Amino acid sequence: MDTTEQRLAVLDGSGSVIPLRLVPGIELSPLDLSTSNKTYLLKAEDKYFRLSEPLAVLVKLLLAHHEVHTVVSEYNSTTNSQYTWDDIQHIILTYLKPKGILADGGVQGGGTTPRSTRHASNSMMWLKLPIVRSSVVEKITTPMTFIFHPSVFFPLLIASVASYAYLLMTAKPWMIDWDQIFSWKLLIVYVAANLIRVLHELGHATAARRYGASVKEIGVGVYLFMLVAYTDISDAWKLPRWQRVVTDFGGVYIQLLISIFLIIAFGLHSSSLVFFLLMVNTVSFLVILTPFFRLDGYWLFSDIFGIPNLRSSANTALKKMIYRLRGRELVENAVSSLQPVSKAMLYAYLVTSYAFFALVIYVLKDIVIRSAVGYPQSVLQLYHAFGAPTAYARIVQMLVVLLGRTFLIVACSAAVYKAIQFVIRLYRTR
Ligand SMILES: [Zn+2]
Repeated sequence: MDTTEQRLAVLDGSGSVIPLRLVPGIELSPLDLSTSNKTYLLKAEDKYFRLSEPLAVLVKLLLAHHEVHTVVSEYNSTTNSQYTWDDIQHIILTYLKPKGILADGGVQGGGTTPRSTRHASNSMMWLKLPIVRSSVVEKITTPMTFIFHPSVFFPLLIASVASYAYLLMTAKPWMIDWDQIFSWKLLIVYVAANLIRVLHELGHATAARRYGASVKEIGVGVYLFMLVAYTDISDAWKLPRWQRVVTDFGGVYIQLLISIFLIIAFGLHSSSLVFFLLMVNTVSFLVILTPFFRLDGYWLFSDIFGIPNLRSSANTALKKMIYRLRGRELVENAVSSLQPVSKAMLYAYLVTSYAFFALVIYVLKDIVIRSAVGYPQSVLQLYHAFGAPTAYARIVQMLVVLLGRTFLIVACSAAVYKAIQFVIRLYRTR
C-alpha cells in the first residue's frame, strides 16, 4: 500500500482540516427536465438537490475514490479542465457542503427542488403533522396500483368524462334544496370532504408506488387557517417525466372516480345531498388543477413541460423582460437553459398567471371591500344570534358567511404582502 498517498481532506473556512467523508446513502440519478444542459438529482440525508453535470461528476468521483490525485486527474479528464486540488476543494466547500453531503460538514438548509404534493406551498404551511407512516401507506397503496395500469386508467378516465357529460345534460344546479343542505347534513358534507381529501392523497401515493418511488408519509398541516392534507413524495423526482405527470394527476384521478360513483348515485336517487357533494368534489378538483396556485395543477404544468421551479423561473422571465425594456441583459440560467417549447410555455404561463390574478382581483375587489367593511357587523350579528333564540340553520349560515369573509380577507392580505415582497426584491437586485 502506498502510504505517501494523500487521503481526501478539505480545509474549511476556519482553517481546520476535515477528513472528507460523505454521508451514507447518497443517491445520484439523472433528473428528467427540459433543459439543454444535463441535470442530476442528488439525494443526501433525505433531502433532494439539483446538480449540474460537472458537480455530479465530482460527487461520483468522491463516492468512488479516496485519493486526492485520482479525484483530481479523473475530474480534469472527464470535464476537460485543468483544476488543482485547491480549486476542487473550493468547489466542494462552496457547492457541495451546503447540500449536506459531507459527514462532518453538517446538513445546512433544505433541498433546492423539494417536491411534495401538499396542498399548500412549503413556506406557507405550518404545524406539519405526519399521520400515516410510510410503511402503512405502502401497505395500503401497493394492492391498489393496478388502477394506474393503462388498461384500467384510460377506460375509467373516459367513463368519468362521459358521466359528467350525462350530468350536464340532465341535472341543473337549482335542483338543490339549500334548506336541506344548511342543516345537520353539513356535518356529513364536512366528513365526506375530508374523506375525499385523504383518498386524493392516497391517489398520489398509489401512483408513486406503481412507478417505484417511495412515499415518506401522509400528514396534515395548517395552511392559512385551513386544515390541509399533504403527501411527501419528494422521491418522485427520480421518476421519468411522464411518470411524474401521472403521479401529479393521481389525486384528481381518484376524485374523478368518486364523481362517477356520485353521479350514478344521483341518477338513482336525485338527492340534494349527493348533488351538493358532487359539486364540492368537482369544484375542489377544478381549483386543484389550476396551475396558478401551488397545487397539483402547478406540478402537472411543471412536469409536462419539464420546467423546474416553475414559479421562480416565471419571475426570472419577468425580470428578464423588465431588464430588456431598459436595454440591459439579465445573466441567468433558469430561463435561457430551457428548450424552445418549454421556454414558450414558461412565457405563456407568466402571461396567463398574471392575467388570471388580475381577473381574480377585478372580480373580487368589491366583495373583499364589502367583506372588510361589513366584518365587524357580521361578528356582532353572530354574537347577538347566540344570545337570542335563533334558528339553528340561520346560525350555521352566518358562521359559513363569516368564515368565508375571514378567508377572503386573510388570503387577500397574504397576496398583497407577497406582491409587495416581490416588487421589493425586483428593485433590490436591479
Ligand atoms: Zn393533490
